[in-house]
Formats: sequence, C-alpha cells, structure tokens
Amino acid sequence: MAGGEKVDYVFKVVLIGDSAVGKSQILARFARNEFSLDSKATIGVEFQTRTLVIDHKSVKAQIWDTAGQERYRAVTSAYYRGALGALLVYDITKRQSFDHIPRWLEELRGHADKNIVIMLVGNKSDLEDERAVSTEDAKEFAEKENIFFLETSAMQATNVENSFQTVLSEIFKIHS
Ligand code: GDP
Ligand code: MG
Repeated sequence: MAGGEKVDYVFKVVLIGDSAVGKSQILARFARNEFSLDSKATIGVEFQTRTLVIDHKSVKAQIWDTAGQERYRAVTSAYYRGALGALLVYDITKRQSFDHIPRWLEELRGHADKNIVIMLVGNKSDLEDERAVSTEDAKEFAEKENIFFLETSAMQATNVENSFQTVLSEIFKIHS
C-alpha cells in the first residue's frame, strides 16, 4: 500500500517463544515474503508492519519480534504493552521448545491485555522426518487453553499468512 493512505486501525501483535524456533523468519515471510536459512538477529529493529484490508477497512499490523531476549523472563513488559495478539511459537522438531510453551503463555497472560488473541504456532512443518511434537498433542493443549493452533513452515510459506490473518481478523472482531 502506498504511503499516505488512510489507516483505519493499527494492531500490535507480538512474537514469542524460545530462541531459534523461527520467529524472525515467520515475520520476514509475512512482512516481506522473504526467508533466510542463516538468519542473524535483527539489531535495532523492534517491529515490522504490513497493511491489509479486513472487512473493507485498512488494518496496519505492527508485528514485534524479540531480538535475543528469549531467556526466561528477559522479555520486558514494554514488549507486551498494548499487544492485542500474539503468536506463541515452538519448533515441531524441538520438544523442549514445546515444553516451554506453558511458561510463555503464563508470562503473556501476566503482561498483556486480557482479551489478547493467541495463536499457538508449530513451525518448521517442512521437517516432518525430524518431528518431535505430534500435531495431536499441540491441538489438545491449544483446545485446553482456548487458543488457536496452526503448524507453519516459514521456509515453504505454509500457513504463515493464515496464522496472521486469523489473529488479525479475530482482533478486528473484538476491537472494531
Ligand atoms: P528465532 O530465534 O525464533 O527468531 O529463529 P530464526 O527465525 O532466527 O530461525 C532459526 C533458524 O531456523 C534459522 O536457521 C532459520 O533459517 C530456520 N528456520 C526458520 N523457520 C524455518 C522453517 O519453517 N523450516 C526450516 N527448515 N527452518 C526454519
Ligand atoms: Mg529472532
């Protein structure tokens, strides 16, 4: 969308989850349709934006990415402030990244808006041969916690668009 055009809504969405699960590449895919195999930590950039149309309204998604602050409790409250949506990301090939999800969820719920829209995201679905977390386990967890769930591949561009669209449409329903 060209600069200077009218934006009806700005929605802040945060990416959280362990280091190396693919948060920055999910964002690169969504914001710029790019992917890189050797991703370096983006320094000095707090968020990226993309403007979409939802229900004939122009919605600017402001997506925040952690820059190496994934250590437990190192993400500051400023990061969560004002967030209306969150992608809670784990790597389907790293069991530990899924086992840490309850902690991330607790931290998120402790800091964010009480109506925050949350999507559990199992990334790297292209690495099916190395899968360490079953789709069923993740689905069951998401249902129990009443949050959305999708498996994605930032590499193959699978479900990345769908994840953000779902979260943003749901935020739109609540806040428009
Ligand atoms: P972050 O620390 O959570 O931001 O993770 P990065 O986005 O930096 O990704 C960590 C590593 O995983 C990088 O080498 C990425 O190229 C790789 N990666 C990210 N997403 C995918 C994916 O969907 N599939 C595969 N195979 N690798 C991915
Ligand atoms: Mg990163």
